[in-house]
Amino acid sequence: MKNLSQSFRKLFFSIKCSVCGKIIETETQYICHECFRILRRKSEMKNIDNYYFLYYYDEDIKKIITDYKLKNRKVLSKEISILIKKPLKELIREKRINIVIPVPISSNRMKERGFNQVEEILKELRIDYETIDRIRDTEHMYSILEEKKREENIKKAFKNNEINANGKNILIIDDIVTTGSTIREIVKEITKKTSPKEIYIFSIAMSKFFKK
Ligand SMILES: [Zn+2]
Repeated sequence: MKNLSQSFRKLFFSIKCSVCGKIIETETQYICHECFRILRRKSEMKNIDNYYFLYYYDEDIKKIITDYKLKNRKVLSKEISILIKKPLKELIREKRINIVIPVPISSNRMKERGFNQVEEILKELRIDYETIDRIRDTEHMYSILEEKKREENIKKAFKNNEINANGKNILIIDDIVTTGSTIREIVKEITKKTSPKEIYIFSIAMSKFFKK
């Protein structure tokens, strides 16, 4: 009887690893031990000037972030948090960051997804942050490859109403930096009325299309 109920449980609650697709036995996990170990090993902080990141945007990272954002696997925020905790907290300390700003998502995206993927991770890590507004709904950036169109799409999409960045060290956080056009637009908005001391960027993954 026990065996039977166990196999029923497996049938209905089987969870596949977000990376390799292997069935995971526990219900609280979305990345299998093997894949998690590999991800841990690869999670060294890298940077291109003031853009800091942990991973290159390869197939494995793509699967995790897609699962997390688009398949609503909100629980993945826990596992992602474990991976980025140490390097991110070190960066915040080292660069004497005063204000952390997650890239905001549009209200439509919020309706679709129900959560901001970056804020969720920051909450998990108990890192305080301040927000700017996303005032314009935009196309999904991942569907636009041409840089000119990406820039056009994201133009004037943000509004900083509350953050006074004067003399402060700012850290903008996103999940993936692709060409950097979203970040540049946010920087433009933040520096419009205030003068931060320094602006750094942190993302979980960095695309090979990025050019500073
Ligand atoms: Zn796996």
